[in-house]
Amino acid sequence: MSDALLNPQLIRLGCRPASKEAALREAGQMLADAGCIAPDYIDSLLRREAVANTYLGNGIAIPHGMVEDRALVLRTGVAILQIPDGLEWNPGQRTHLLCAIAARSDDHLAMLRQLTRLLQDEARLLPLFVTGDSADLIAALRQPEEELPPDAEAQDLDISDEWRLDYPNGLHARPAALWVDAARRSPAQLQVRHGNRTADAKNLISLLQLGLRQGDLIAVSGRGPQAETGVRQLVKAMREASLAEQTAAAIAAQRAAAQRPRAGWRPASALISLPGIAASPGLAIGEARILAGETLQVPDRPISLAEGGDRLHEALAATRRQLSQLADATQATLGASEAAIFHAQAELLNDTDLITLSCQLMVAGHGVEWAWHQAVERLAEKISALGNPLLAARAADLRDVGRRVLFQLDSSLRGRAPAEFGLDTILLAPDLAPSDTAALDLSRIKGLATAHGGPTAHTAILARTLGLPALVAAGPALLDVADGSPAILDGDAGRLYLNPSEADLASARAWLQAQRDERDRQQAERQQPGQTADGARIEIAANINRPDQAAAALEAGAEGVGLMRTEFLFLERDAAPDEEEQLKTYLAMQQALQGRPLIVRALDIGGDKQVPYLNLPREDNPFLGMRGARLLLARRELLEPQLRALYRAAKSGKPLSIMFPMISSLKEITRLKGICESVRQELDAPQVPIGIMVEVPAAALLADQLAPYVDFFSIGTNDLTQYALAMDRQHPELAAEADSLHPAVLRLIRQTVQGAAAHQRWVGVCGGIAGDPQGAAVLAGLGVNELSMSPHDIASVKAMLRRHPLAQLQSLAEQALSCDSADEVRQLLEALA
Ligand code: PEP
Ligand code: MG
Repeated sequence: MSDALLNPQLIRLGCRPASKEAALREAGQMLADAGCIAPDYIDSLLRREAVANTYLGNGIAIPHGMVEDRALVLRTGVAILQIPDGLEWNPGQRTHLLCAIAARSDDHLAMLRQLTRLLQDEARLLPLFVTGDSADLIAALRQPEEELPPDAEAQDLDISDEWRLDYPNGLHARPAALWVDAARRSPAQLQVRHGNRTADAKNLISLLQLGLRQGDLIAVSGRGPQAETGVRQLVKAMREASLAEQTAAAIAAQRAAAQRPRAGWRPASALISLPGIAASPGLAIGEARILAGETLQVPDRPISLAEGGDRLHEALAATRRQLSQLADATQATLGASEAAIFHAQAELLNDTDLITLSCQLMVAGHGVEWAWHQAVERLAEKISALGNPLLAARAADLRDVGRRVLFQLDSSLRGRAPAEFGLDTILLAPDLAPSDTAALDLSRIKGLATAHGGPTAHTAILARTLGLPALVAAGPALLDVADGSPAILDGDAGRLYLNPSEADLASARAWLQAQRDERDRQQAERQQPGQTADGARIEIAANINRPDQAAAALEAGAEGVGLMRTEFLFLERDAAPDEEEQLKTYLAMQQALQGRPLIVRALDIGGDKQVPYLNLPREDNPFLGMRGARLLLARRELLEPQLRALYRAAKSGKPLSIMFPMISSLKEITRLKGICESVRQELDAPQVPIGIMVEVPAAALLADQLAPYVDFFSIGTNDLTQYALAMDRQHPELAAEADSLHPAVLRLIRQTVQGAAAHQRWVGVCGGIAGDPQGAAVLAGLGVNELSMSPHDIASVKAMLRRHPLAQLQSLAEQALSCDSADEVRQLLEALA
């Protein structure tokens, strides 16, 4: 064992721990004090004891934490408690030397090997149980490996086989015990040899002494009755343990990644801080102001059920109208997915439990306001009590929308407007309704922290879109913060620092300034063409839906429009826009783009985008049903006016391409192109490029066969991810997992690019990952030619591409393809500054 590990401060002689737990805690604390482990590893030591026996034999125990907690080990170390009187470890097993091991990499093995040798040498071991000099322990454990005599004449037994160990953490006690189990089932003598050393396969300690590491080639041999079967079964057991070992190592690596300190601001001094859950990134410096949650006093004024029912009906209708207006306003300012928050809230008003409960309370003689309020509260409490942060988020939505109905029923309950806050306010609140968040005065509110809620709550989503640093779920202690305290909110780390020193304030300000400078640099270069550091061109386009958004997109640096989602022309209205209205829109879009490329996507109705007036049949699995191209082919009365409008717009001579969504077969392409061609001929319009969206794995896998029939591909990674991973893109619990950087999705993208290249077609990506700077870098590395994104993301994506040469992105993309999870890909991409 190396000298570095044998630190006298980590040796405690003459200990008398009251219990096994006390001993483990004492040794764990020594490791923590020496900076070897994070304090949480102490619990991991205790947990390990519950699932495994760490008693090695002959008075030595080797407690160590769970494999998956290895990230909590900061550096390798071993804490030794000498217990002269012994401590009962398990019935019949007394420990005199407790060696608590915190090991990074396979240092653990070297230690085990040394301890097991000592274990067999009682003459040296027993004095160590009582010695009063820690130097004796150090000397005994320090014996260098080289001095250990190799086993004489290492030879295999009669029947032998070879296997290369592929356990990432080498041979440690858990898999070694499986080997022993397998070996003991055979009547034969079985042996494992590595180089010049051999071990009895039926003896755990003997096996551990081999100190086997990943990649070591071992010889497994046997002699005596059924030796051949014995060897075969033993090698089989060795192989079978591989998967579990590799999985455990992968989990440990993922935890390590999750716990690795992120780049971001760190206070210079130890500040009092409240932890929460990071909800929206960024740093806010200001004064903490408490927004006390108002408890509404709702009067109970009984009225007849008929009257109460009518009033409730009207209040619900008015609230629906209000939410629809709010959604429109939010869509215009923030975007479609933020607007969807209010559509989802409107859905809550249709909850039959809610209406039923309100009516029951009115039947029981209560007033309509009281009954409604009670029903909302009871349901919200029931949801919150389930302890699921995702459902807690829905409870907040329910209360928010419930309040709106209540104010319709009795406007006097509306109460006062939120207090006036000073400049640079960090708002602390029990929870904040999404509609309140959307209405915050951002010239004053610089950060937001809530005691309740979760990171997927709509409030958190809105905060992210507003660029407001936020944390949620900080617990009730948040509301005990003294009103007016100076504070720094770190939305990346999910921490609220209180009463920062001048030095901390200065460093936080400097950090913020550096961020602003970086953003300014990106903004200043946003009009430069999209290209890598060595000049490889990647076209950067915008996803916009209406002509009035075009000027802002160009101003943001867009080189054209890569995705115009035309279904938005059909939503939020009572009838489909006719050919003339559509023509006007397409011409206006062409006009606004001043000759830049425009890709119009044909109507993509179905799935999450339902249009009530089309009266489409209800489907159990709308994402797997009649949507996109399938619907267009089935409903020609929707497709043909759109195509006519598009070909008429093409006659203007300005660029225009048509793209079809949700293609999964060549037959769909040929049918759609046939219809396009007959419309074109009828109108005597010019040919236009016709492309397809690749959003179904089938299309990606057949890309080389589809490419000759289309002019381009645009990969819709939002849908491609949901179909490749079988995860509903709107599922609240799966959304975070449904990451388009999943290697399976990246492989489909690679296949699409290769299929297109074989026929000299170009490939774009218009799903959300194109606007993620790191995602864009991988896509460029995979050979994608165009990226289309929300205008907001353009400057940072262009900046990322300009910083790196194509060869570097290609090499990263190549590595990403062989990762086994999206997390691993993201970890890899951290290398990209
Ligand atoms: C996609 O699926 O990635 C895409 C761009 O289309 P939409 O998000 O409109 O389904
Ligand atoms: Mg799609």
